[in-house]
Order: sequence, then C-alpha cells, then structure tokens
Amino acid sequence: MNTVAHTPSLPAPSRPGENRGQPEALAESALELARLVLVRGPISRGELAREMKLSIASLTRLGKPLLDSGLLIEGPLVADGTVGRPVRLLDVPNNAAWFVGVKVTGDSLQAVVTDIRATILAEAVLPLPEKSSAAVVAGIAQLTEQLGAQAGVAVAGVGVSLGGQVRPDGVVHRAPFLDWKNVPLQSLLQDWLGLPVVVENDVTALVAAEQWFGAGREVPDFAVITVGAGVGYGLTIRNHVIRTVDTGLGLGGHFPLDPNGPLCAEGHRGCSTAMLSIPSICLQISAALGRPVDYGQALDLAAEGNRAAAAVLEAAAKSLGILIAAATNLTMVNTVVLGGEGVALFAAKEATVLAALAAGRDPEAAPVKVRVASADFTEWARGAAAVAIQAQAFIR
Ligand SMILES: [Zn+2]
Repeated sequence: MNTVAHTPSLPAPSRPGENRGQPEALAESALELARLVLVRGPISRGELAREMKLSIASLTRLGKPLLDSGLLIEGPLVADGTVGRPVRLLDVPNNAAWFVGVKVTGDSLQAVVTDIRATILAEAVLPLPEKSSAAVVAGIAQLTEQLGAQAGVAVAGVGVSLGGQVRPDGVVHRAPFLDWKNVPLQSLLQDWLGLPVVVENDVTALVAAEQWFGAGREVPDFAVITVGAGVGYGLTIRNHVIRTVDTGLGLGGHFPLDPNGPLCAEGHRGCSTAMLSIPSICLQISAALGRPVDYGQALDLAAEGNRAAAAVLEAAAKSLGILIAAATNLTMVNTVVLGGEGVALFAAKEATVLAALAAGRDPEAAPVKVRVASADFTEWARGAAAVAIQAQAFIR
C-alpha cells in the first residue's frame, strides 16, 4: 500500500470551457509547461525555455504558481552543462495525484487507477448487466471507490471513455452500442462522486495518452490507428490532439481498402472494419472452416499453415499497410501508433504490412515509424485516466 508523506493541494479543477475568465494564451502556456515537465522531467529551466521559445525570465514567471502550489518541484543541484553553474531541475512529484480511468463497453466497465504519469497501480472489471446511464454511473462509482482503496490512494479525478460522440460539456451525444442519446454522463457522475470527471471518446482518449505518455514524448505529429471491435483513427498535430464536431463518429472505420474484400454491416465492400476488425476476421475464418473461431485461434491457425485463416490474415495485413500509407500520405505525419486488441495482426504479419505500406508511399517521402502500443485491454482505461490527468492535473 502506498503511503503519502505530502500531497500538494491541487488547484480547483476546471471543466472544459470553464476557464474563460483567464486569457487562453496564459492557461495554454502554463499547461504546456506542466505537460513538458510531466512527460520530460526532471528537466532544466534552460531546456524548457528553449522548447517553449520563451526567455528564462518568462519561464520562471510562468512556473512560479505551479511551484507554489506544489504541482512542480525542484530537484537537487546538478551540472547543466550549458549555463556553467549547477542548476535545479524541475519535476512533477509522482505522488502529486491519482486518477481513475474507466472504459465503458456494451457489457462491462474496465477500470484502472494510475499515478500522475498514467502508470497503472491497480485494475478492475465490472460486468454491466444493463446499459442504462444509472447502471453505468453506479458501476463507475463502485469501481472508483474499490480502486482507490485497493491502491491506498485518494482519487483526484475520474476519466471515462466510450465509443461514441461526446460533446465538450461531457454530454454523450450519441453512443450506439449503449443505445444512448444525449446522456449528461459527466454531470451525473460529478454529482454522484463529488469529484471532477471528464468524459471522452475512447479513441481520442487513447490518442491523448499517447500524446503525453507515449509517442508524443518524441514527436509532435502522429496518427493513431486502433484495431479491435472496430477500427479507430485519431491524430495529434503539433502536440494537439485533433478534436472536431465529427470526432466520435468513427469515420476511420469505413475507409475503403480492398475492392475484393467482404462487406461490413453497413454494406461497404472491403472497408477498414470489414478487412481489419476482430469480429470480421473471426467471421470470415469461421465461415470458411464451418466452426466458430476466436481471434487467438485465427492467428494460431494461420501460423500453422491453415490456408483459409492464412488467406484472411494476409488480406488483413495488406489492408493495414494500405491504411497506414493512406493515413500518413493524407495527413503528412510519419509516425503511426497501432493500438487495440487487434494489433496482434501486425506482430504476426509485419512483413506483409510493411510491404503494402512501402508500396503506398512515395520513395522520396520520410520513412514511416510504426509503433505498437500495448494490446492489453487496460490501455483503453489508461487512456481515460490520461484524459483526466490532462484536464484536471494542471489547468488552473
Ligand atoms: Zn464499412
């Protein structure tokens, strides 16, 4: 069990759109400073000033309230190598705050509790017997209490992610797999829990986790492709997760990839869902073999040389390469993160994916870096926790 010697008092959390009283630029730059220290710390003021294109004096001014509130701390004196005298590095204390992230699916709630760097301390799953908002709210409340006790920490905020469209005010505009329309999930949960809550589209939450705690530590621009029950697509440009009115509609899920492929439920031939989603791959192989086959079995069968399974996975791998090429060509990023339970396809058929990717790229274009995130289902819940961290840990 963790014991906490000192927990700095956190600034009052603000919901999206609530910090209108302050100039946006100031909030943005303080957030950026905190983000840089969180993801790169311990780090010197000189390096931060260069990264943020600020003078050391401006940076010191910007950081002072964060230091005063205990969100940032100063480390011991170290030789910086650039200013000729020892300097104190800035860091974020790992015991600054703890967050719960919950991924809502059609039949379960998957939850984790993390520290402020989105490191998972404990996890739990709760079956969802019914899809009402009351059942989801009660389940999330139960998990939050359970995980806080399990990890021995006081939870500072909760992030919730689900497949669907979520408005900036935390109202779930549309979540087809829950049969929800206009459910004010954020305010329902905040009233119940008495904690700040953020609700976000699940793919966007995963992109946000990558931005602060994954690919974003090395590059400012990258795309995320998730493969699982469906196919998701998200984008970060210049350290900003792209969110638009169409986020959550799942527009990346029906991108045409193979004119000879099977049909998806919406009638597209060879779209990304038809070619790549786990249900579609299992259905194709099950139909060919005349018996039910799950995803793990499908991969095993292909590896053992079963021709039907191998053909389906070969076509899927080629389609994944085409999708990565399309994403990088059209959005001009050259780093792609693959996430979701279906990324096992990449490990199994990497050569096929990369050949199709190369065929779809201009030889003059920058080489594409493909990073594979964890296929563990807890990644989705960790993404939800990351959104809570981003929204609640630093915004003043
Ligand atoms: Zn489709």
